[in-house]
Amino acid sequence: MELRQVSVPTETLAPTGATNAYVLGRGDALLVDPAGRTDELDAAVESRDVGHVLVTHAHPDHVGAVAHYADACDATVWARAGREERFERATGIAPDRTFREGTAIAGATVLETPGHAPDHVALAADGTMLTGDLVVSAGSVVVGADEGDVRAYLTSLRRLYARNPDRLCPGHGPTIDDPRTEIERLLRHRLDREAKILDAVHDGATALDEILDAAYEKDLSGVRELARSTTAAHLDKLAVEGKVEWDGDRARPT
Ligand SMILES: [Zn+2]
Repeated sequence: MELRQVSVPTETLAPTGATNAYVLGRGDALLVDPAGRTDELDAAVESRDVGHVLVTHAHPDHVGAVAHYADACDATVWARAGREERFERATGIAPDRTFREGTAIAGATVLETPGHAPDHVALAADGTMLTGDLVVSAGSVVVGADEGDVRAYLTSLRRLYARNPDRLCPGHGPTIDDPRTEIERLLRHRLDREAKILDAVHDGATALDEILDAAYEKDLSGVRELARSTTAAHLDKLAVEGKVEWDGDRARPT
């Protein structure tokens, strides 16, 4: 399966300042995450004869040129079943068709991988997996309240680990050739953070900001909002698991 990666500059939270668009196949090809229009992506789309467009999830830094390329290629536009309205709000166009777990589109197969976003999917094609914002090769992925779901995210990572693809093509940054090492790193990172948050609550921190300060040693200037929403998402998970009481502002041990 031929795969072309095109880096598109975007206003993304990712440190790369760019989102990867992918063109999969040749002839009736699949365009994934056209985050914006560039000359390079124009050329790739034209040379591959794109017939299908979809996004791994409808975040602003993944959808910018969906409407443009859908129109320019007269392509079939796909969205996650049950998330059509979200897709239309983000892209400005209604999908032609919907997919769910296992749907085959132009040689790729959909894998539902919620967590970073509720509509998040990955796409398997031979040994390659397009992973959107499920995995990044440096740092970590944002899984924050209200939209993020840490439990779902960890499950999605474990599913990806179990499938053991040869390589991962993420939404930001370079291709990952050692998927299990990276997935293990990301799982460990989440669970380490969660352990620190639980420790903070056990040590007497109750307000979200107190818990945040106790759980992160590093200087949070510039990323405090992000860290706060990450901490809240972990507290949501710990509350579901009965490990803390948490009302959205304050937590205490059970
Ligand atoms: Zn995202």
